[in-house]
Amino acid sequence: MSARQRIDLHTHSDRSDGTDSPAELVRRAQRLGVDVLGLTDHDTTEGWQEAADVAERTGVRLVRGIEVSCVFHGYGVHLLAFLPDPAYPPLVEELGRVLAGRSSRLPATLERLRSLGIDIDVHDVHQVAGKSAAMGRPHVADALIELGVVRDRNEAFERFLGPQGPAYVHRYAADLEAMIGIIAASGGVTVIAHPWASRHDHTALDEDGLARLHEAGLAGVEVDHEDHPPQVRARLRDLARGLDLVVTGSSDYHGVGKIDHELACNTTAPEELDRLLDLAAAAARAAGRDVPLVVPAR
Ligand SMILES: [Zn+2]
Ligand SMILES: [Zn+2]
Repeated sequence: MSARQRIDLHTHSDRSDGTDSPAELVRRAQRLGVDVLGLTDHDTTEGWQEAADVAERTGVRLVRGIEVSCVFHGYGVHLLAFLPDPAYPPLVEELGRVLAGRSSRLPATLERLRSLGIDIDVHDVHQVAGKSAAMGRPHVADALIELGVVRDRNEAFERFLGPQGPAYVHRYAADLEAMIGIIAASGGVTVIAHPWASRHDHTALDEDGLARLHEAGLAGVEVDHEDHPPQVRARLRDLARGLDLVVTGSSDYHGVGKIDHELACNTTAPEELDRLLDLAAAAARAAGRDVPLVVPAR
């Protein structure tokens, strides 16, 4: 066997909040010597076909995925779903709910701000957001700065937009355990993304929590991620080994949308990918699916 494969299983294109098109992303992977690439846009499979077409031509092996916005014990958790059947009705339904929640959040947030006496509408947000496809709270914060209501984004989040703020609008997220079951039933496998990243509360994702999720069908955890400092990676890796969970590592690349996350800055070991693909193949067989798991097939 030739040189050890470079495997990056968690990346974003401009179909969610990355800046490269799916085609550009695959070509970049080829240029940087990435052998296996996971495309995992937030809550959508829209980039899959374009990425698969380019993968066929370049020989980069594409693992089609989704990073699903979930909730566990009241806290947001990102779930990487690999190789699910994108047409599986319960999955289509849940992703539809998550996406609808995203697009209804902005008008609801602005409504609350107006009820607080702030004269702001969607045009103010468009003006600061430019061409961004995913307008979110940071853009609302920028509009508030522009209007002279707050000095900076921090103040906007503290006074209005953060979870304790009066203009905070709850956004729908899928129930984590239910989503793990849905992905398994659709013939795919799941890995918790950056479970111990500092900005997320991980108290529910402790050993007991992860053991319970493993019972529910969880295949693995993302250990090597830029949001995990070295000591955190070491503890999480031990815990994952103890629970017999697959260990992955990835860049969470967003193009210029996120600095210090270049493709393959973290990678997954080939043996771990093999375990993940074996589990996916078993799930696909159990679901009665017969699809090429990785593009191009070999
Ligand atoms: Zn994430
Ligand atoms: Zn991500």
